[in-house]
Amino acid sequence: MADLHMPAAGQQPDRVRARARVVGLVQGVGFRPFVWREATARGLSGWVGNDAAGVILEAEGAADAVDALLDALTRPPPLARVVEVRSELVPPVLDVGFAVRSSATGGVRRALVSPDTATCRDCTRELHDPTDRRFRHPFVNCTSCGPRYTIVQSVPYDRTRTTMAPFALCPACQAEYEDPANRRFHAEPVCCPACGPRLRLLHRSGDEVEVGIGAGDQAGDPIRAAAQLLREGQIVAVKGLGGYHLAVDARHEQAVAELRRRKHREDRPFALMVESAEAAQQLCAIGPEEHTLLTSAARPIVILRRLAAPRAGATEAAGGAGGAGGAGGAGGAAVAAAVAPGSPSLGLMLPYTPLHTLLLEAFGGPLVMTSGNASDEPIAFADDDAAQRLDRIADAFLVHDRAIRTRVDDSVATVVRGRVVPVRRSRGYVPSPVELPLECPQPILACGSALKNTFCLTRGRHAFVSHHIGDLDDYATMLSYLDGIGHLSGLLDVAPAVVAHDLHPDYPSTRYAVELADVQLVGVQHHHAHIASCLADNGVTGPVIGVAFDGIGLGADATAWGGEFLLADLTGYTRAAHLAEVPMPGGDAAARQPWRMAAAHLDAAYEGAVPAGLAVVGRHGRSWGQVLSAARAGVNSPLTSSAGRLFDAVSALLGIRDAVTYEGQAAIELEHAADPGELGSYAVPVSDEAVARVQVAHLVRAVVDDLARGTAVPLIAARFHTALADVVLDVCRRLRESHGLSTVALSGGVFQNALLLHRCLDRLEADRFIVLTHRQVPPNDGGISLGQAAVAAAQLRAHDA
Ligand SMILES: [Zn+2]
Ligand SMILES: [Zn+2]
Repeated sequence: MADLHMPAAGQQPDRVRARARVVGLVQGVGFRPFVWREATARGLSGWVGNDAAGVILEAEGAADAVDALLDALTRPPPLARVVEVRSELVPPVLDVGFAVRSSATGGVRRALVSPDTATCRDCTRELHDPTDRRFRHPFVNCTSCGPRYTIVQSVPYDRTRTTMAPFALCPACQAEYEDPANRRFHAEPVCCPACGPRLRLLHRSGDEVEVGIGAGDQAGDPIRAAAQLLREGQIVAVKGLGGYHLAVDARHEQAVAELRRRKHREDRPFALMVESAEAAQQLCAIGPEEHTLLTSAARPIVILRRLAAPRAGATEAAGGAGGAGGAGGAGGAAVAAAVAPGSPSLGLMLPYTPLHTLLLEAFGGPLVMTSGNASDEPIAFADDDAAQRLDRIADAFLVHDRAIRTRVDDSVATVVRGRVVPVRRSRGYVPSPVELPLECPQPILACGSALKNTFCLTRGRHAFVSHHIGDLDDYATMLSYLDGIGHLSGLLDVAPAVVAHDLHPDYPSTRYAVELADVQLVGVQHHHAHIASCLADNGVTGPVIGVAFDGIGLGADATAWGGEFLLADLTGYTRAAHLAEVPMPGGDAAARQPWRMAAAHLDAAYEGAVPAGLAVVGRHGRSWGQVLSAARAGVNSPLTSSAGRLFDAVSALLGIRDAVTYEGQAAIELEHAADPGELGSYAVPVSDEAVARVQVAHLVRAVVDDLARGTAVPLIAARFHTALADVVLDVCRRLRESHGLSTVALSGGVFQNALLLHRCLDRLEADRFIVLTHRQVPPNDGGISLGQAAVAAAQLRAHDA
């Protein structure tokens, strides 16, 4: 019909046809239907399709309408990210209508796969609408939400290359999938009760729980049946998006304690899932930034300060958002003590799949949702493996038959002084790239470090930091590291010939790197990688004053660094200052037994003449002397300038923690013990050497003196934090004077300490420093791989120039 009114080609001088290529995160995010809508609305003809490089389209019609379409491409749907639009004019072909083409394979794979995304508002509405055909369907999703990275097997991103491939679309879903005007147009994981995965509740024995029988609203509904088991205090393994969780009633003291016992997890806090932001506000103080983070599409676990125990009418003013904290604000008493023993914080997340939403609604209270594993093993994600490994922990299994391709843990973040601080970057963020401040001349693989490990692959300006892999000492974790490198390289279609690694020869990641054939190796010092990671995270190249405080990393002088002030840019660094070294008695054992570090620091502070009557000495009797003689003789006692180990020492010295059950515990408990209202400090001198030493002996003696005076532990703990922040300011001022640098980058796991970070930011910003902190990747070793990649890229470019 349009033909009747269409003038002949010759009579239409302004009819043009443009071919455009769109590069970025444009597949699986509703980009083609978006183009279809924009093109049809403007009366354009042509087509749009996916290929391995992204989206490609041709549009023909009036020149201004074609221009307007090309312009609209830069304002894409919410989950899309357009990196580049390249267009050219081609001869008009006088076609009619605008078509959406299916994917073409082959070619260079440039398209980006999207992260897994929390259920969107439209899908949540359908989930609750009794008239909708997806009412209470635990797998509802659309082009704006649902599983992505966890189900993708290869690219281009298409249903046939995901773990949804075995589920044949029913006619109704097929029609939606093919209709460009529908919001499920090419939503690859689209499904419904008729054609989607099936949910089942299994006994520990593997037999299906009979949910079809019985009265009331549990009939036929595994979710309601699971909620009933949870109310009875049972432990239910729940198959989620990137792996299994272990769920238990967070208010049920015995059930939570039993979960700890079965999981062999003694002290480390459990994360909770709550139904809504309102439910979160009944437990914790939530400011505007925390609220945004909690409700974001990525839905990380957010570490939040608990509301004080309820006092009549008194709610903490720190909240800000959400008003008076809700009528039922039961405060600290609302969850079992065993959830997060002794911690003033709770890690909360909101439901991010329809299954979670239904489970939380059916249960009606906070649930512990901790990773499905025993102690330090990786989280279970394959069904047979989960059934085996979680058999002794879970009483029942809420499972389904959609396979998880890639294990992806929950992400964790916190907010300090209005700044988001990532603690673990995984589900919801990966595989979105971090934009590098420079172009990589060739693809790079950065292998990371050892604990909390990630790897990183680069392509052009994009750095793809992997999902959280974990501690590589574990064999199963190492296998998932190797699988992850292979899988992500395949998705990105890169074969890196440059491989960056830590200097520590015994890290499994280093051993992996050096055994690769035909690659160019780039060794990157651990703390340089930390600072480079912070620079790349902020899109800058330096130079800066880098403050890297962490546990341990191998230094250039073969000692164990960890309290470092570096003058650094992406290409290189000089060590400008550091905490004074002490022996680390027993090497790795010192990290597990902080009292050993107390012994080393006291011995150094008093040159052998430790004052009598210190409780920490008394608690360790003969072992104390043995550890000291080993340290003095240099037997298995490498020197360290570690800030993390200094926190350990003070934690033990103050009687807070002598031995840890998880990494960082002593320092975390020292932070929690500190009275944030206390503003006192201790003077800590810095030496005049070329590489200055912070005289931590003075700090240790000040702590001991305060202790001897009977000063309360919360005051001493706070003064210790403030003293370190004062030292950071002092050293940064000296370096600004001597080197003219006024930007400071703070990195290393110690800067997850909110109190220390807060005090450092206060001081540095008041003194007009520009302070860079991590925003996208964690300051801990989970961010190391990004720094290594950035350093390798900068060095390659310097070499080429
Ligand atoms: Zn949706
Ligand atoms: Zn269907």
